[in-house]
Amino acid sequence: MTGYDCPICKNKGVTYFLENGYEKSRECKCMAIRRSIWNIKKSGLKNLLQKYTFDNFKAADEWQRDFKADAQRFVTDHNGKWFYAGGQVGAGKTHICTAIVQAFLKKGIAARYMLWRDEVVRLKAIVNDDEEYAKAINPLKTVPVLYIDDFFKTGDELDRYGNIVKKRPTQGDINVAFELLNYRYNNDQLVTIISSERTIEEILSCDEAVGSRIYQRTKDYCWVLTAPKAKNYRLM
Ligand SMILES: [Zn+2]
Repeated sequence: MTGYDCPICKNKGVTYFLENGYEKSRECKCMAIRRSIWNIKKSGLKNLLQKYTFDNFKAADEWQRDFKADAQRFVTDHNGKWFYAGGQVGAGKTHICTAIVQAFLKKGIAARYMLWRDEVVRLKAIVNDDEEYAKAINPLKTVPVLYIDDFFKTGDELDRYGNIVKKRPTQGDINVAFELLNYRYNNDQLVTIISSERTIEEILSCDEAVGSRIYQRTKDYCWVLTAPKAKNYRLM
């Protein structure tokens, strides 16, 4: 097998052991990592993984150096914490979040990539089929590292004053978000990385239960990027 070099099974994916005089085999631990890598390749993050590493993040300005240093710190300081990168397109959110995912994979921790808008459509379509729905959402609830890209992404609309604003997520979107994030919120070891065009305040105004959980977990690692300048963002 390729893609990950495992010293335990020498890339066979199984290990052998003796039990009551019989040779038996069991799946090697590296299979969880291999499945993460397959999942990431399938999800379209494969090209991003090559492109978006910590090493090739261009940190010309001080805030970019801080952003990167914070992300690198998070990889070793994630117990009970999540990482949030909000704000404008093109500020390097996806780059940094992908680099974090990659760092976890290198440490041998399984990860999944979830492109919010696509995945939420798929989940809502099967919400009335308990078995299918559980099969689809459980891996996202329980994976050690979950990267949700473009969280609460919706289309634009005009408000009553004629300003272009982001559409509110539907109640169906909010239900999926709550189920997923509440589960992860209640399990300290689960790492969640979220990128979104919205600020935490905007997410709070979409749904307080979802927003407050994100706020609680991302207090230490919450970035809202507004090109050309960014700030380390704190509520209050
Ligand atoms: Zn192995």
